[in-house]
Amino acid sequence: MMPSGKTALVTGSTSGIGKAIATRLARQGCNIILNGFGEEAAIEAERAGLAKEFGVKAGYSGADLTHPDAIEGMMHYAARDFGGVDILVNNAGVQHVAPIEEFPVAKWDLIIALNLTAAFHTTRMALPGMKAKGWGRIINMGSAHAKVASPYKSAYVTAKHGLAGLTKVTALEGAKHGVRCNLICPGYVHTPLVDGQIADTAKARGLTRDQVIEDVILKAQPTKEFVTVEQIAGFAAFLCSTDADQINGAELSIDGGWTAE
Ligand code: NAD
Repeated sequence: MMPSGKTALVTGSTSGIGKAIATRLARQGCNIILNGFGEEAAIEAERAGLAKEFGVKAGYSGADLTHPDAIEGMMHYAARDFGGVDILVNNAGVQHVAPIEEFPVAKWDLIIALNLTAAFHTTRMALPGMKAKGWGRIINMGSAHAKVASPYKSAYVTAKHGLAGLTKVTALEGAKHGVRCNLICPGYVHTPLVDGQIADTAKARGLTRDQVIEDVILKAQPTKEFVTVEQIAGFAAFLCSTDADQINGAELSIDGGWTAE
C-alpha cells in the first residue's frame, strides 16, 4: 500500500522511464513534480493531464540538472509549492558511446554531472525534510551498467557504478529516519535514449541498426525482450509502498537475466 498525501519529484520525467514513473505515482495518488527538457506545449499537456486524470497536484521544473544552482532552484520550488519532496526519483540521464581515447571530454563531464552528481545534490537537499517527517523514499535509476561494463560506455558505466555507492551511503544514513534508498538496475528499455545509442553503437562498431539491436542489445538480454517502461514504473511504485519498508540500499535488477550471466 502506498501512503497517502505524498509528493514525488521525478527527474527526467518528460520522456521514457521517468515519464512512466511519474504517471504511475500520480495514479497512486502522489502529487508530482516533473522535470526535464522538451517542447513547452507537450510538457504542459503532460503536467495538466496528470492533474486532471488523477486529481493530484502537478508541477514542473525545467531545471538543467548539470547546474547545482538550478537544482537548488528546483528544490526550493518543491519546498515552497509542495511542502517538500517525500519521494525523490533520480532518473534523468544521458548516454554517449565512444572508445575511451576518443571520448569527448565535454561528454564525460556532462554525463558525470547529470547521471551522478545531480543525484548527490537533490539527495542532500531532500534528506533534511524527509528526516524531519520520518518518511522518505529515494529511488536512483541505475542500470545493468551499475553492475557490469560494456565497451565504449566509460562515462555512463562510471556514473552508474558511482550511483550504486551513493545509494548505499544514503540508505545507511536514512535508515533510522524512515528514509529508504534503492537503485533500480534496468536492462535495455526501448526509449529515446536507447534509440540514440543504437545509432552511436552502429557507428562505433561499424554495424547496421538491425545488427546492433540483435547482436548487441538483445544479445545481452537472455529473455530477448526489451524491459518496458511500465514494468519499471510498477517496480518503483512498489518500492514506495509499505511492503517495501525493509528494502534499503539494494541494487535491484530488472534486466531479463542480463547480469545473471
Ligand atoms: P530518455 O532519453 O527517454 O529520458 C531522459 C530524460 O532526462 C528526459 O526527460 C530528458 O529531458 C531528461 N534530461 C536530459 N538532460 C537533462 C538535464 N541536463 N537536466 C534535466 N533533465 C535532463 O531516457 P530513458 O531511457 O528514459 O532513461 C532514463 C534513465 O534510465 C537514465 O538515467 C538512464 O540511464 C536509465 N536507464 C535507461 C535504460 C534504457 O535502456 N533506456 C536502461 C537502464 C537505465
